[in-house]
Amino acid sequence: MRLLPAAHSPERRTTMIRSRHGEFPPRTIRIVIRRLLCAVVLAQPLALAPLAAQPELAAARGLVHAVPGDFPTAIGYLNIAEWSFPLSEAVEGAPNRPVPLPTPVFQVRFPRGWIMVDAGMDREHAVAADDSSQFFVDRYARAVAALRGASLIVVTHEHYDHIGTVVHSAVADELAPKTMLTRAQMESLLHNVKMTLTPFDSARAGHYIVFDYDRELPIAPGVVLIKAPGHTPGSQVVYIKLASGREVILSGDVTLNHLGIEMEKQKPDPNHRVGAEDRAAIAGELAWLHQAERAGVSVVVSHDGEQLKAFAHDGILSDGLATR
Ligand SMILES: [Zn+2]
Ligand SMILES: [Zn+2]
Repeated sequence: MRLLPAAHSPERRTTMIRSRHGEFPPRTIRIVIRRLLCAVVLAQPLALAPLAAQPELAAARGLVHAVPGDFPTAIGYLNIAEWSFPLSEAVEGAPNRPVPLPTPVFQVRFPRGWIMVDAGMDREHAVAADDSSQFFVDRYARAVAALRGASLIVVTHEHYDHIGTVVHSAVADELAPKTMLTRAQMESLLHNVKMTLTPFDSARAGHYIVFDYDRELPIAPGVVLIKAPGHTPGSQVVYIKLASGREVILSGDVTLNHLGIEMEKQKPDPNHRVGAEDRAAIAGELAWLHQAERAGVSVVVSHDGEQLKAFAHDGILSDGLATR
């Protein structure tokens, strides 16, 4: 995204003054133009300078070595379901063109083993939740294999399309002991099924790794959870530093399309598919994620099919899941 709108660019300013004062501007105007150009040129480094106010990113970066070991080598993803909907329903003020809206699971791969981020839901669960996505049975089987082979599982938040498989599926009992759920996520499961759209047997709550933290929590070498309540009370984003030095944030559903971060625009009001969001909290998160992006971090938006594809093309993500 351009940091300076076109109307403020030096070329545009010069043209505007020229047309108002004839082909060759008099000396005083030339001086004004020069000063304007200097002001614009001087202003640019300030606009491009690293932004100071990103405590979340600074804290996460400071914790990448908290758990000793080799950093992850890659991040894989697989879309288990796909849908298409108007961009204008994802981001306030966006054009009305249709965009792909997949349901992915993510795999953070280490030299030995992997962590899964988000778990999707099985087809029955999707139907019960009135999800109109096209569901891919074969891909879901691969996702389940990756979840079963994972060392650890975390979820960005407690909506059925992210948490379903670990709490309400044929493999939920098997996955529970290695699934980390925050206290807020567990509270929603126990008390707000209207929002999670995920039936949950409270007697099974003790089978999970239930934990809590205030702002950041390192869970593996190069992997730090960052609290981001707003879309749901239990929302968090996952900061990942790869062995290559690349930094990625899996941002869940803070926004439904990357444009939401670029423009710092929220979902349109009526688009609360399940439950009300805390819009003030989300505004703060969009702002710091945008800053993180300007600082060179790749911010992955779960349901942005175009962005997932572009990131796979650019080698930031890897399309598909490894099972060994
Ligand atoms: Zn969600
Ligand atoms: Zn979602």
